[in-house]
Order: sequence, then structure tokens, then C-alpha cells
Amino acid sequence: MTQIFQGKTALVTGASRGIGKAIARVLGGCGAFVIGTATTENGSQEIAKAFASAGIAGTGMVLEVKDRASREQFAERLQASGQTPLILVNNAGITRDNLFLRMKDEEWSDVISTNLDSVYHLCRICIRGMIKARFGRIINISSVVALSGNPGQTNYSASKAGIIGFTRSLAREIGSRNITVNAVAPGYIDTEMTSALSEEQQNSLHERIALGRMGNVEEVANVVKFLASDDASYITGETVNVNGGMYMA
Ligand code: NAP
Repeated sequence: MTQIFQGKTALVTGASRGIGKAIARVLGGCGAFVIGTATTENGSQEIAKAFASAGIAGTGMVLEVKDRASREQFAERLQASGQTPLILVNNAGITRDNLFLRMKDEEWSDVISTNLDSVYHLCRICIRGMIKARFGRIINISSVVALSGNPGQTNYSASKAGIIGFTRSLAREIGSRNITVNAVAPGYIDTEMTSALSEEQQNSLHERIALGRMGNVEEVANVVKFLASDDASYITGETVNVNGGMYMA
């Protein structure tokens, strides 16, 4: 792969598995120094090992986005590392599905704080460095359900729709600093998050997807790569749908 991100540091939250792992691999394969986060020390070491065996320059770091102390420790470690992320991919996310009438307060607040508050916090951590460098690429991972809605996911779709509003507003605030802010809204992608679905649920989903199949993690990672690249220098405030035609906005 061409080294289009040579000399740049990329921070990818939730890089231990799934979409985040693929994003880290693709950005690192294109020459970025990648900092990938996991919630545990073991996870962060696994990230570092995976980078080393793939010949990617980078490291793993622990970050539990819900926890203020963990965020502060992470910010301190980041500063101590001397790395300034000019590419930030806010990918970490969870689902805690339940029908609205049965939803517990913790299911609501866990999802909002993990998926949405985290985007605010990570942007706060990274934005000064981007302003100083007069360059930045922020890519926030939303979801198709932000646009389509989905029963059982009021919490998740609210968090992911919140990301789109946040993305547009921040893009307007910091565009003049040569920092772009975009969102990627994946559809139904083959990861641990979707593996819990029954065969029946999977088949009925396939029928709603124009391309007739679920997506793979590289198909999302490559769009993130594009948005982080110079080829996307005049795109900001956008949400790119990567859903195989499951929902056409
Ligand atoms: P996944 O396989 O479940 O991986 C989730 C990642 O987020 C893991 O690296 C996990 O770290 C990290 N994470 C979870 N809770 C965290 C917390 N409290 N603090 C910090 N990190 C945390 O998920 P995925 O399917 O790859 O999804 C990645 C993103 O894409 C999410 O934002 C998700 O909402 C979005 N998305 C996914 C799909 C899909 O079909 N898969 C569709 C649309 C959008 P640990 O390994 O340490 O737990």
C-alpha cells in the first residue's frame, strides 16, 4: 500500500477487534503511526503485538471511555509518548438493545456515554494538537440506524444520530483550521457486535440489503482511509453510508 499517511499519527479507539482493528490495520498499512485503544491492559498488549507482526508502527493503549480517570490517564500517556494524533477515529461503541418500555436507565446511559460522550471527550483531547498543526481529520463511526431507526435500539440510534449532529457542528466550527470532521455510517457488518443475531434475523436482514450480503470490516476501513487522506480534503460535515444499499438516505 502507498505510504500516504507517512509522518502522521492516527488514534483509533476500540482497535482491539472488529471495525476498529481493521481501520488501525489499514491506516497503519498506509504508513501512519497508529495508537489503538482497548479497555484492558491485555487488549492493549494484543494490539501492540498485532501491529508488530503486521509491520505497522504503533502501539496499544488502555482507554475505558466511560471512566474519567481512565481518560485522564490515557491523555497523560498520550502526551508522554510525544505523539500528536492528526487523524482521530472515534470507533469504540457498544449496543445494549432493549424495547423502549423495558429499557433500564443503565442501558440508556451506558450506550450514550460509550458511543456519544466519548466522541466529545476524545475530540477535546486531540483538537489542540490539530489546531497547532493546522491539519486534522476526525472520523466518527455512526450507524445506519441513526438514519433508519430500529426497534429495540432507541439508545443506540440516539447515540449514533447524536454523532452526526456533533460532526456537522464541529465541522462548521473548525473548518477554517483545515480540520475536517466526517462520520461513517456502516450498515450490517460482520463483527462480534452482529454475531449474536440468529440465522433467521440474518436472513431477513440480507433481504433488505441491495447487495444481498453483510459487509466486511475492510469495506468500512477503506472509506475511513479515504476520509483521512488528502483525496478527501474538501469533504467535511458529511456522513458516508457504507451499508450495501440497506438504507439510501
Ligand atoms: P466490536 O467488535 O464489538 O468492538 C467494539 C470495540 O469498542 C472494541 O475494541 C472494544 O474494546 C471497544 N469498546 C467497547 N466499549 C468500550 C469502552 N467503554 N471504552 C473504550 N472502548 C470500548 O464492535 P464493531 O462491530 O467493530 O463496531 C465498531 C463501531 O462500529 C461501533 O461504534 C459500532 O457502533 C459501529 N457499527 C458497527 C456495525 C456492525 O454491524 N458491526 C454497524 C454500524 C456501526 P474491548 O475489546 O477492550 O472491549
